[in-house]
Amino acid sequence: MSKKKINILLIGTNNKGKLREIKDLLPKSIKIHSTLNFKLKSPAENGNSFKENSLLKAKYFSKKTNLICLADDSGLEIDCLNKKPGIFSARWGGPKGDFNKAIKKVFRELYKKDKNWKKKKIRARFVCTLSICYLDKIIACVTGKIEGTISNSPKGRNGFGYDPIFIPKQRKKTFGEMKPSSKYKIDHRSIAFRKIKKFL
Ligand code: IMP
Repeated sequence: MSKKKINILLIGTNNKGKLREIKDLLPKSIKIHSTLNFKLKSPAENGNSFKENSLLKAKYFSKKTNLICLADDSGLEIDCLNKKPGIFSARWGGPKGDFNKAIKKVFRELYKKDKNWKKKKIRARFVCTLSICYLDKIIACVTGKIEGTISNSPKGRNGFGYDPIFIPKQRKKTFGEMKPSSKYKIDHRSIAFRKIKKFL
């Protein structure tokens, strides 16, 4: 853990939406660089956990640029599918990242497991791990989670990914039906950012 304040930070993502969201969550005093400006390809995400993948991205981009780098890895875990799609959440959308396809695969897998799944409580959670590294050194690595259940049909047009099928605990609406500002207050990413703020 470093006590020195970070004033320049590279965000290790080539996803413009994610970059914008991350920028909004960081203190304005930090000068942000993006891997998009360096024209760096993302490394293969061949870790076995959100933690391993976020660390490998942060280390890789830091070594390529010699800057302190923050990278994330996130996804949806469904308990009765042995925590799948998990680290494969993005990959279930196929090469074009088609979220409808990913949601259909979730429903197919649930049906294979139990034909009556729609009548049951399907426990799930979103997970986000954030890592800050300088070269091979780990400055911070934190995880945020939000528990919930899977809706028996997609609902709402807000958000992205699995938002239309995830109902956070103690709520009735899916993330897809919630206003983005309401989702950001409680989601896995904002929980992880609150935890990492003390390192910045
Ligand atoms: P990553 O870019 O490797 O972290 O992939 C994350 C994938 O997990 C996304 O492509 C989505 O499919 C899913 N995911 C992560 N966070 C969320 C969220 O807040 N809402 C919906 N889907 C999410």
